[in-house]
Amino acid sequence: MSTSPSIIDTRRHQMFPVLETFEIERVRRFGKVRSYDDGAALAKVGEVGPGLSIILAGQVEIVRRDELGHSTPIVTYGPGSFMGELAQLAGRPALIDAHARGPVQALIVAPDQLRALLIAEAELGERIMRALILRRVGLLETGAGGPVIVGRPGNGDVLRLEGFLRRNGHPRQTLDPDTDAEAKALIERFHIDPGQLPIVLCPGGQLLRNPSERELARCIGLVRPIDPTRIYDVAIVGAGPAGLAAAVYAGSEGLSVLVLDCRAFGGQAGASARIENYLGFPTGITGMALMARAYNQAQKFGVEMAVPDEVTGLEAEDDLAPRRIVLRLSNNARVSARALVIASGARYRRLSIPNLEAFEGASVHYWASPLEAKLCAGQEVALVGAGNSAGQAVVYLANQAAKVWLLARGDDLAASMSRYLVDRIRGLPNVEVLTRTGVTGLEGHDGALAAIRWRRGASGEEVRRPIQHLFLFIGAEPNTDWLLGSGVALDAKGFVLTGGDTTDKRRPLETSREGVFAIGDVRSGSIKRVAAAVGEGAQVVATLHAYFAAAERNPAILTSH
Ligand SMILES: Cc1cc2nc3c(=O)[nH]c(=O)nc-3n(C[C@H](O)[C@H](O)[C@H](O)COP(=O)(O)OP(=O)(O)OC[C@H]3O[C@@H](n4cnc5c(N)ncnc54)[C@H](O)[C@@H]3O)c2cc1C
Repeated sequence: MSTSPSIIDTRRHQMFPVLETFEIERVRRFGKVRSYDDGAALAKVGEVGPGLSIILAGQVEIVRRDELGHSTPIVTYGPGSFMGELAQLAGRPALIDAHARGPVQALIVAPDQLRALLIAEAELGERIMRALILRRVGLLETGAGGPVIVGRPGNGDVLRLEGFLRRNGHPRQTLDPDTDAEAKALIERFHIDPGQLPIVLCPGGQLLRNPSERELARCIGLVRPIDPTRIYDVAIVGAGPAGLAAAVYAGSEGLSVLVLDCRAFGGQAGASARIENYLGFPTGITGMALMARAYNQAQKFGVEMAVPDEVTGLEAEDDLAPRRIVLRLSNNARVSARALVIASGARYRRLSIPNLEAFEGASVHYWASPLEAKLCAGQEVALVGAGNSAGQAVVYLANQAAKVWLLARGDDLAASMSRYLVDRIRGLPNVEVLTRTGVTGLEGHDGALAAIRWRRGASGEEVRRPIQHLFLFIGAEPNTDWLLGSGVALDAKGFVLTGGDTTDKRRPLETSREGVFAIGDVRSGSIKRVAAAVGEGAQVVATLHAYFAAAERNPAILTSH
């Protein structure tokens, strides 16, 4: 059990600030006063509430409740306190229960008004925003308000669901059916066969059997239907650093923005154990922490998030309305916008080993997050790759694993990895680097790897080692399949051409199709770095304004949708 103190103990005063009377008067214009009788619910786990509630009179008790029937009081709010966490910023279902203790009067600030308040009242907005974030961190620590996963630790589907919730900053609890009495009781209550595990119990009471990420997201209220009649100023495909940066700048400059991502916010950067070369973070920052800040910041500026929602196609140009952008989603929905920013990045490359797929999920990993590190604690692991992401993962895993074998195809790590990482790896006693080495086979059964075979050089002997976890960091290819047939030109490797590289000599970052822009790793010739992706996200907004201004001058463009 963890001995580190809870955030509720260490940052209580920042989590639960009390507003002064004059501050409440200043924010009255953003809300509406409502009265509640003794015992009335101000919020219920799993239900979308009316917004942030500032208590004017009376007391409100906040209770953490889970699907196993446990209730734990968190705090009791009195006059001047405000009730809410990040869910209230985006109008998502509550993660806690709140009840009036005695008659209560509260100022209710709806999500759109809360965003307006955070921007208009900078100093007060900062205190409120910090409290909302810290409260979510507190809920993440305990798993309160999130779904309960019942399944064996290390099972591929359990890891998939845990990874999805963790990447989306959503609390969860996982119960092992072999050791946990409550898990056993749930399995009996719902007559679950061991083969049907994992099951997920959602806060609304629904039971899902080994759900897809999308089913789970819908059940916990992470995704909502998109209004098919609305035309956004900008649709952004991808919520990695490039897409989130474009969203923050476009949203802060008053454009209506929808961001779609098929997995989670943060993209590849969200999977980085520690980003050490991003300006302003001299001690480094985890990719997830950096991206969560950007995600919350974008929502503060009113950006709408559709995560997870996969874009499967961009409709070809229409002769009658040439500048209309229509995206097709995997759930058959359509999204319309005046401009499109492609920020769909790249995906990890896989090894060409025939039975690789059988071990993906439980034993073959493409990220090195705390989840994977915990699985490998005290064991030998192998990692294939020679780039910076491989180097970071080796350094991170070496902290937990008994030994890390780093297998690289080339002669010298320094040819593809930053000097500081090469030096750091050299200084780690439990890392062994094997150059000119390739994986030749995987052995195991039921998704669990038992051994890895590799060979050094073309004629070297094949070595077999009993290793249960293999990490692959062997580069990426662009996520551009969805652009086929859309009229957006790609280079020979499938990356999107922009600006002077297109035959039409478009604006900087604009693709061969007018009004469609590309930024970040998906763009041909881009620098594959977080800072470069963020820079292009900022830059594209200036180009968008130039495009919209040209459209204003040309009525044919304005009447195109
Ligand atoms: C493990 C790791 C560590 C790294 N460490 C560093 C580092 O320390 N420093 C550094 O500068 N760089 C680092 N990088 C590189 C950096 O993360 C990338 O350059 C950066 O994330 C690119 O940002 P992006 O927004 O262009 O694309 P991505 O981060 O790839 O994001 C693209 C997003 O688009 C979504 N998407 C794709 N297709 C669709 C679709 N059809 N519909 C909806 N959504 C879609 C994806 O789910 C993804 O979230 C690292 C990369 C990895 C993998």
